[in-house]
Amino acid sequence: MTIAAVPFFRPSIGDKEIEAVTECLRSGWLTTGPKTAAFEAAFAEYLGGGVEAIAVNSATAALHLGLEALGVGPGDEVIVPTLTFTATAEVVRYMGAKPVLVDVDATTLCVDVADVAAAITPRTKVIMPVHFAGRMCDMTALRALADAHGLHILDDAAHALPAAHQGATVGKCGADITAFSFYANKTMTTGEGGMLVTANPALAARARVMRLHGIDRDVFNRFTDPRAGWAYDVVAPGFKYNLTDIASALGLVQLGRADEFKHIRASRAARYDAAFADLPLILPPHAAEGDSHSWHLYIVQLPANAPVSRDAFIAGLKAEGIGISVHYRPLHQMTVWKPFCEGAQFPQADLVFDRCVTLPLFMAMTDAEQDRVIEVVRKVLGAAQ
Ligand SMILES: *Cc1c(COP(=O)(O)O)cnc(C)c1O
Repeated sequence: MTIAAVPFFRPSIGDKEIEAVTECLRSGWLTTGPKTAAFEAAFAEYLGGGVEAIAVNSATAALHLGLEALGVGPGDEVIVPTLTFTATAEVVRYMGAKPVLVDVDATTLCVDVADVAAAITPRTKVIMPVHFAGRMCDMTALRALADAHGLHILDDAAHALPAAHQGATVGKCGADITAFSFYANKTMTTGEGGMLVTANPALAARARVMRLHGIDRDVFNRFTDPRAGWAYDVVAPGFKYNLTDIASALGLVQLGRADEFKHIRASRAARYDAAFADLPLILPPHAAEGDSHSWHLYIVQLPANAPVSRDAFIAGLKAEGIGISVHYRPLHQMTVWKPFCEGAQFPQADLVFDRCVTLPLFMAMTDAEQDRVIEVVRKVLGAAQ
């Protein structure tokens, strides 16, 4: 079979997802309610329990609520890697605080703990590591650093479900709060959605209140518990970040497939690794010893001795109908973030940006589609088929 084109991503939505959403639509309850409560409970249990999971309508909302619960405000500094999606830094500005960008390791694409340490000042309040592509940061070292300086950790785990650090699952491996994304092309999806996870009851209570307008009790109780009555108080100017039951119904089914999805992505990544082993390509870093990787993204880098430039490589893949992406143009190169890093240098992130390409890797990918990507990559690099 000849494959005309391979998309960068195609979601894995099966009959069970469609049935679950349809059932929710027929149930008469659409907004936050019993399905969301069940999704939160199932998510906390999936992580092994001992945490609270608070469903929100994006990872950006989870990151924002996390910084709010940690008490970040004007005059504070928050350490953010420059190689990330803009959401990681923008939430710091939501709180009126200053994002302090740090470089990443060009091999792991995660923050270098020494760079984070060097960026700490008396105003630093939170460190926000990003488990890049699903490879975990060194949370042991980051936790020790944070404790030594009295700092909090809010990790951006938008790429990292499921992954683990030294046997501890993401969401329970050293951060005070963890944010997950269920955006359409993440490792599981609710269309749009996210989850805030914390083991700290006070942080969880604050995030629950701020998730829905600062109302002092959960909407689930307000609408579904007959004893709850009509009365409520508003204790803070909160946000409108709750997740619908429609999305949660989808999330419950996708969560049940999260391990299967990870297994598929890991197998596809291994298949790419084997097919590209002889090419002039820098292959993605694997998990550190004792960690596990979610394989959300498969990012290759073109070394200096590659026969084509990164841009020519991308043009070659596009000409053959292969969908690609670039993760990411570093934040310090973006107009809005430049004023926050005047004079600072980020040589590793610049190097990665100049030579990286993300290849298609998704749960619904077929063998034929992956074979086609492999064939085109080899052809564009001038290698034997
Ligand atoms: C996708 C993503 C986000 C934002 O997730 P949303 O659910 O779309 O808000 C944040 N950080 C990183 C690293 C991401 O990839």
